[in-house]
Amino acid sequence: MSFIVAIDGPAAAGKGTISRAVAEHFGLAHLDTGLLYRAVGARVLAGGDPVAVARALDPVDLENDNLRTPAVAQAASEVAVISDVRSALVDFQRGFARRAGGAVLDGRDIGTVICPDADAKLFITASPECRAARRHKELAEKGIEATFETVLADVMARDTRDSDRATAPLVAAADAVQIDTSDLSVDAAIARAVAVVEAAHRRKR
Ligand code: C5P
Repeated sequence: MSFIVAIDGPAAAGKGTISRAVAEHFGLAHLDTGLLYRAVGARVLAGGDPVAVARALDPVDLENDNLRTPAVAQAASEVAVISDVRSALVDFQRGFARRAGGAVLDGRDIGTVICPDADAKLFITASPECRAARRHKELAEKGIEATFETVLADVMARDTRDSDRATAPLVAAADAVQIDTSDLSVDAAIARAVAVVEAAHRRKR
């Protein structure tokens, strides 16, 4: 049975953790679509042309260890406003979503543009301060130095760029269930997401 779960939301709201947990719970494959834009951003920082890089992207590019840095995140959100970059990445994402057995995709436009017919849609949010605090902690754990203020400014700059772009802006699909994780533990956020997906899974069986 094909079963597609679309999980969208702004940076550091908890999408990645929730998506991995949902994929594991239901035995689905998982694609973090932010990695596609990060891989393009990383190549552009090294001097590549955004559209050419996006058209030639290889799945092994997603395994590069350097994709999680703040500089690559900003570069990703800059290339993500280019509509030819976005369209070059559509087929890969839709192909992944249609795989036998089903898939969870997380990103910014999965429920609205990539998989508008997804079986379950979630939109994960949290306050900017809360998201910046989480990202700051993650970076510190990886030994990447940054002040809280810089991380907050980066998160807010990406929010604005992602929400204001003309093509596939960050917006909740009308039929997405919203979960605000600001005051939720990781386990509670996962439990809510699993319950929403479980209900959709039951409807489909
Ligand atoms: O999710 P992540 O923070 O890794 O994404 C990096 C950037 O890639 C985002 O700020 C956004 O600009 C872009 N992105 C996007 N559409 C997606 C996934 C990510 O525009 N589906």
